[in-house]
Amino acid sequence: MGTSLATDDLIVITGAGGFIGGHLVGALAGAGHRAIRAVDIKPLDAWYQRHPGVESLTLDLRGIDACRQASAGARQVYNLASDMGGMGFIETHKVECMLSVLINTHMLMAAHEAGVERYFYSSSACVYAAGKQLTPDVAPLKEADAYPAMPEDGYGWEKLFSERMCRHFLEDDGFQTYVARYHNIYGPDGTFEGGREKAPAAISRKIIAAQLAGAREIEVWGDGEQTRSFTYIDDCVEGTRKLMASDVHEPLNIGSDELVTINQLIDIVEEIAGVRFARKYNLSAPKGVRGRCSDNTLVKQKLGWAPSVRLRDGMARTYQWIYDQMTLPAGRRRVYS
Ligand code: NAD
Repeated sequence: MGTSLATDDLIVITGAGGFIGGHLVGALAGAGHRAIRAVDIKPLDAWYQRHPGVESLTLDLRGIDACRQASAGARQVYNLASDMGGMGFIETHKVECMLSVLINTHMLMAAHEAGVERYFYSSSACVYAAGKQLTPDVAPLKEADAYPAMPEDGYGWEKLFSERMCRHFLEDDGFQTYVARYHNIYGPDGTFEGGREKAPAAISRKIIAAQLAGAREIEVWGDGEQTRSFTYIDDCVEGTRKLMASDVHEPLNIGSDELVTINQLIDIVEEIAGVRFARKYNLSAPKGVRGRCSDNTLVKQKLGWAPSVRLRDGMARTYQWIYDQMTLPAGRRRVYS
């Protein structure tokens, strides 16, 4: 394939006020791209990152007209917008999660209509069949394990349906769509409070809050023995860009294969913080699947690449950022422009 992208070709990133979108805009701008349109439903002052020289728009992309406005003149679209969060959010907001189908459907239609050449969709490890994630010593998930389908109720079904929609736009209309299945992305400049945060940010926040309050224990969701792999944001952005530059149209895992229990994740954060707390296990809290890890055989074969940042290193940077947000006197957010 390989149509090369000039630095003044317009790239659109949706969900750019969010965690991954904000980092992706930064990486593309840093790589010299001068025509970037960043779009999010949030007002600009609520974006995690704002980058100078980037056209930044507030639009609700559930509507087709907004998607047309977002896509006009673009050569590439990265669609990262969706109404999502960690387990505490997706297990209790299934309607909101399912309604993100409007965003991807309308963005696909509008981008194809506008003559966009490449379209990226951010899917999730939540598409994988529940029956393959029943034990902590789970076999890493290969891309083929999404079928027969039995994904996460709500959020996972929407992601799987939207993946298939991308495939049909490719097969029926030749629209060049790309799909990544992200596995638990974490890092600075993302959600760490408010109910949508995921385990690495939530655990960092709890440990920092306990330190600041002089508390002795922290609450842990579940028994702490559920397993996950966590992917640092820099790996996520690099993998996303490599996929978009490739001719691989089947969904690919973008996920670490460094499997840890939640208890081990807490050990790592406690070691970074130089503290130790008693753990109160809340067995009735949302827990998600029992075990989940990325199998990176296919991504290595197709892209010659896989995530490489060690959890300890990525968590040190994440912890420090959250610590700053919780302790800096002026404002809670780093300002970029
Ligand atoms: P995020 O919540 O930080 O970013 C998503 C952004 O989409 C938010 O800023 C939100 O305001 C925006 N959005 C929601 N509804 C919108 C609408 N109607 N119109 C325009 N913008 C809208 O989440 P993230 O972690 O950056 O995730 C980005 C993408 O990656 C999402 O599609 C998510 O499902 C997917 N993903 C993320 C992870 C992860 O671990 N973070 C894992 C798997 C998949």
